[in-house]
Amino acid sequence: MNNEIARDVVVIGSGPAGLTAALYTARANLAPIVIEGTSAGGQLMLTTMVENWPGYRDGIMGPDLITELRAQAERFGAEITSGHVARVDLSARPFRVELSDGPTYTARALIIATGASAKLIGLPSERRLMGRGVTTCATCDGFFYRGRPVAVVGGGDTAIEEAIFLTRFASSVTVIHRRDTLRASKIMQEKAFAHPKISFAWNKVVDEVLGEVEGKVTGLRLRDTVTSETSDLAIDGLFVAIGHTPNTELFSGVLDTDENGYLVTHHGSHTNIPGVLACGDVQDHVYRQAITAAGSGCMAAIDAERFLEHA
Ligand code: NAP
Repeated sequence: MNNEIARDVVVIGSGPAGLTAALYTARANLAPIVIEGTSAGGQLMLTTMVENWPGYRDGIMGPDLITELRAQAERFGAEITSGHVARVDLSARPFRVELSDGPTYTARALIIATGASAKLIGLPSERRLMGRGVTTCATCDGFFYRGRPVAVVGGGDTAIEEAIFLTRFASSVTVIHRRDTLRASKIMQEKAFAHPKISFAWNKVVDEVLGEVEGKVTGLRLRDTVTSETSDLAIDGLFVAIGHTPNTELFSGVLDTDENGYLVTHHGSHTNIPGVLACGDVQDHVYRQAITAAGSGCMAAIDAERFLEHA
């Protein structure tokens, strides 16, 4: 068809996984195109200082890291295009990737790096103070709260794991949960209950994140889910840990997923369809770090290259 552009490699997603896959496939002369998606740059664009990316001893701002990764991939010939993928057809070769507001690309190998989105509570104040005291990643941002009170929202394993992690830094950690029993595994619960720095606000939801418009978080307005009474809690940091959603809608029913909805990969980055590789948070709910995403992007690129050699 006339409006189709043929490529060896199409990468969907532009976080550290997708951009690293682009860098490696570009350097393998495969002239990849990266389709950025609606959240260009991924979760790093929601972060402030990244202090655990190796090689930056003073840290680097999340958006700056993405700018560097993009420029590095482009330097070797990767093309990065804005656009949203409306449909993917993996039933025939080459694969077809249709943009909602642009051309259709065909790909001999497809690298999926669509990431996962942290679920948010959905409050305007939460969005406004994101990166200014509201965060979705304790591993990334816990360090900034040394000696300060923080809260974690959620009652699953992630929330409890983050609460326990945060006790290394914070003066106190309040776990806010909408029910009076945790979803987290018993062993995690026991650890949390025994920890002197962790306390629980049961049957509570966050009605508003308090903080100045251009400033930082100063507290939370909580609402009791049983009595509807409201109360304020003074904290400096809010860690939202109510789960992640892997961005897999495009591949629903076609690619294998695990019980949490993440793409299943085997022998590196291979999905159940040869030539379709997956990397980053869309296939990883365990590590979820920028550096592990980048590492798996490198794996996907090498897997794509080897697949194309034999295709
Ligand atoms: P999860 O198990 O789905 O738990 C999400 C928690 O957030 C639940 O307690 C839920 O409350 C609460 N929640 C959801 N939406 C909410 C909202 N809008 N407002 C307030 N609270 C809300 O997610 P997860 O903790 O991220 O874990 C995901 C999977 O990864 C699980 O299978 C988990 O076991 C696994 N995981 C394992 C480990 C580990 O083994 N070390 C660590 C992390 C994650 P309700 O309980 O009321 O639904």
